[in-house]
Amino acid sequence: MRIETIAVHAGHRVDPSTGAVAPPLVLSTTFEHAPDGVASHGFIYSRSKNPNRLDLEESLTALEGGAGTAAFASGLAATMAVFQSLAPGDRVVAPTDAYYGTGAMLRDVFASWGLETVFADLADAAAAERAILPGTRLVWIETPSNPLLKITDITRLAELAHRAGAVLACDNTWPTPLLQRPLDLGADLSIHSTTKYLGGHSDVTGGAVVSRKQDAMFERIVMMQSRGGAAPSPFDCWLIQRGIRSLPYRMRGHCENAARIAAFLATHPRVAAVHYPGLPSHPGHEVARRQMSGFGGMLSIQVKGGRDAAMAVTGRVRLFTCATSLGATESLIEHRASVETPGSGTPEDLLRLSIGLEHPDDLIEDLTQALG
Ligand code: PLP
Repeated sequence: MRIETIAVHAGHRVDPSTGAVAPPLVLSTTFEHAPDGVASHGFIYSRSKNPNRLDLEESLTALEGGAGTAAFASGLAATMAVFQSLAPGDRVVAPTDAYYGTGAMLRDVFASWGLETVFADLADAAAAERAILPGTRLVWIETPSNPLLKITDITRLAELAHRAGAVLACDNTWPTPLLQRPLDLGADLSIHSTTKYLGGHSDVTGGAVVSRKQDAMFERIVMMQSRGGAAPSPFDCWLIQRGIRSLPYRMRGHCENAARIAAFLATHPRVAAVHYPGLPSHPGHEVARRQMSGFGGMLSIQVKGGRDAAMAVTGRVRLFTCATSLGATESLIEHRASVETPGSGTPEDLLRLSIGLEHPDDLIEDLTQALG
């Protein structure tokens, strides 16, 4: 089945009791069970298992070509469950450029918990090889990375991780399974902030871990849903699944618009650099072409004149909204260094743009007046 059809049909069926075509929302926290505790209807308590969550998990498993999915209340809750499935003393290799919350979690939560993290530029094959030493338990990658859009070769990193005896986890939030399927390329886990493109409308927070295998590590991650309790609400699962049904067509629009805007910005005299893997000049362009079926809707620019000039642009935009997050129908712009942990390393002249589904000419006109 093609991915557009999977997006519409996986985890989605006509309700047998009412004939409802849109899935019913099951808000009940508790379910009738047999006197001996047997789950006669398949469910006991919503934190452990809920019909809307099961449907969403089935959909994500099919989209990623995995063996199972555990959905969480946010992208970071999903990320946390992956690290919590390790043991104190384990060694993790993580990228220097990635969603700043992931690095902050490793430093602020898991360092004192006993995980040893080595940060390296994993988009650089030689640096990755030096960092991934035998005995490493988990390698975390994010490609394209947030906010510099560095491209990491998933197949190569899977080889390096497996040779060292490690699991490869790939944050696939930005490309979504529509543009990139890490499990097909050798990764063991694909992680999502479903808050972004999968939900797609800036109205829900969620996360998920999709596993290539039903193995012991995935069992621990599933255990974290119930024991840790960061389970998504039924309505959040329902909203994310509704978003997924139109994901293929939204992603086409995001990719088309971002490519137009990246080409426009690449020749703009006030722009010092454009980071977009669809540009042939991007250092990761060839790898991106190999492992992605489209280059996505995210891009970053560096503005000539430094921090003040970049901030002035965010103050002048009219159609773009100056806000955090990404992946929804409306275009957003953000000065990332201002919202990240001090010392994050993000350049002070960098603006991150989430290109929405407006007409690209309107977005270009807005950027033209804002750049001055
Ligand atoms: N991963 C990436 C690549 C992200 O961009 C984000 C948020 O921006 C997250 C994870 C965290 O997701 P959430 O905000 O749903 O916890």
